[in-house]
Amino acid sequence: MEPRGILDLQTAVPNLTLNIIDKQSNCLLEWGVSKNNNPIYLDAFATTPLAPEAKAAMLNAWTNPANAGSAHFFGELAQDSVSKARAAVADLIGAAASEIVFTSGATEANNIALIGIARWALETQSYRRRIVVSAIEHKAVLEPALWLRTLGFEVIFAPVDSSGGVDCEALDKIVDEQTLLVSVMTANNETGAIQPLNDVVSICRKNGALIHSDGAQAVGKVSLDVLDLDIDYLSLSSHKMYGPVGIGALYVSAAAPKPKSLCFGGGQEGGIRPGTQPVPLIVGFGAAAEIAHERLLLDEEHGRQLSQRLLHKLQTQLAECRQITSQAPVLPGSLCLLLPGIEANDLIDSLRGVVCFSTGSACSSGQLTASHVLSAMGLSKTDSTSVFRIFCNRYNTIEQIDLSASLILEACQRVSGRTGRVLQ
Ligand code: PLP
Repeated sequence: MEPRGILDLQTAVPNLTLNIIDKQSNCLLEWGVSKNNNPIYLDAFATTPLAPEAKAAMLNAWTNPANAGSAHFFGELAQDSVSKARAAVADLIGAAASEIVFTSGATEANNIALIGIARWALETQSYRRRIVVSAIEHKAVLEPALWLRTLGFEVIFAPVDSSGGVDCEALDKIVDEQTLLVSVMTANNETGAIQPLNDVVSICRKNGALIHSDGAQAVGKVSLDVLDLDIDYLSLSSHKMYGPVGIGALYVSAAAPKPKSLCFGGGQEGGIRPGTQPVPLIVGFGAAAEIAHERLLLDEEHGRQLSQRLLHKLQTQLAECRQITSQAPVLPGSLCLLLPGIEANDLIDSLRGVVCFSTGSACSSGQLTASHVLSAMGLSKTDSTSVFRIFCNRYNTIEQIDLSASLILEACQRVSGRTGRVLQ
């Protein structure tokens, strides 16, 4: 199939402004529907745009010298800002402010939860030496878990079903009275699949195991209450909920053992995460938490409407396009789509600078290895290369979604033309 030309595209998308066209390939290099000509951003799994409220709060916080440990006017001002932000983050998840430990992000929070609890077990001579993590965890859980083998822990991976949800029957057989900690994420970062945490917690409680959840993708996007869930530890990431990058938190239940610190040299954050607190980032995170809390239902509805609209438009033209998590509840706004025969990387490349979305997790993009998440769900290596993920965020508009659908459909024609595959 010959690649379709720009003129066809302009007919398909009447309000498209073409700025730069590569004369040789007849490809779009830049486009614009907005004043700043930015590409359409549909990759909020990787990071969310910064909320203007978080940006404003940070700009204000940068203006003063701010060491929250200093015993003077500016130190107290900083301490006050940190306390307010801690309360806002705690409120978002139904925790007490004293249960929030600020970290540099969810990666660090996960490391503190897993390694810190393993070290606590070693120091308190707990006999429990089994760690169970789901097979679809982010590497920020998988890698510290694997490292714990060097300390003598047994690490077991719990399988998932074909929709990407943890298989609780299998988990029930793996978790036993030797199990120290189970880590199952709240929602997956490649598929958006929300995990059956209530069942996971029941299995843990029955066996006296502690339970950690990596909430990086879910917190601020779906409502979540740590007391209702009855979990011990929850990791949070600010830049996945419209806050700044470089800040996150670990919720440590007042009823759970305190993880041992991985760093030494200061008493901040209850000694669990020492180091001078980055006040402006914490303030930005707090502002993002407050806004997310206020807008939770609105954001959920908006994301759901946009992703369903996009899915419908794609499926109307491409009968084979399928959402791989069809049987699982997913984060509102998320889509994980399989287009058999289309190389997802080719599709993404052909829309580079026009519509931004991705395959797999951002950290492993560019590697040719199949995603461990898709493999765990039973997808073949070939099918895995045809999967891409989209997340419609708070600031996406219907106009952007309609334009993205047209551009993706047009790009599918071009990409399938290149590979000789005929689309239906
Ligand atoms: N956990 C999950 C599920 C994620 O999606 C990510 C980011 O991609 C992380 C952890 C790492 O979070 P951070 O960037 O805050 O360290």
